[in-house]
Amino acid sequence: MILETFPVGPLQCNCTILGDEAAGEAIVIDPGEEIGRIHRRLQALGLRLKQILITHGHIDHVGGALRLRQLTGAPVLMNEADLEQLDLMDKQAAWLGVATPETAPPDESLTDGRTVGIESYQAKVLHTPGHTQGSVCLHFAPPTCPAAIPPRFSTPSTHVCWPCLTPQTSSPATARQQPSLTSGGATRTCGLAAVYSDPQSA
Ligand SMILES: [Zn+2]
Repeated sequence: MILETFPVGPLQCNCTILGDEAAGEAIVIDPGEEIGRIHRRLQALGLRLKQILITHGHIDHVGGALRLRQLTGAPVLMNEADLEQLDLMDKQAAWLGVATPETAPPDESLTDGRTVGIESYQAKVLHTPGHTQGSVCLHFAPPTCPAAIPPRFSTPSTHVCWPCLTPQTSSPATARQQPSLTSGGATRTCGLAAVYSDPQSA
């Protein structure tokens, strides 16, 4: 089992490579940025990418998906309810002050109850709207559960998705250390079993 999670892009979104070295196959979850780095790592590990899984359609999670698809031929999977987020990509990029990444509709939808992944490591899709309408969690059955990864919102240096914030009081630069994000709001699930609080839903 190969399980590597590392932050990418200006918002330091956690990207995950989950692979089976024996089968030479892998999936990538949330390739928001730094696609060259992700692709080189897959090559170094000798892994053929089978699926690109997007937990939701915000720029830091989906921004590099099309480029990774172009490099590897792997299909992009995202819940279709987040197509509206792709339509807002220019606004998301402007908010961050970065160039608008080229995106395209996913090849397949991450519908609730669907099984995704590679043969050795399969996950059930749980549609968990809230953070966005198309947010999903991926439930990997033990003992291969990537939920063993430390929750992405548990330390000051980990990533917080920008739309969770109140724009007039927060910015991406300060978001990672905002204590209000972990208290006072309704608890939601996002991505790989990460749990955080959304002030806007309180
Ligand atoms: Zn987000």
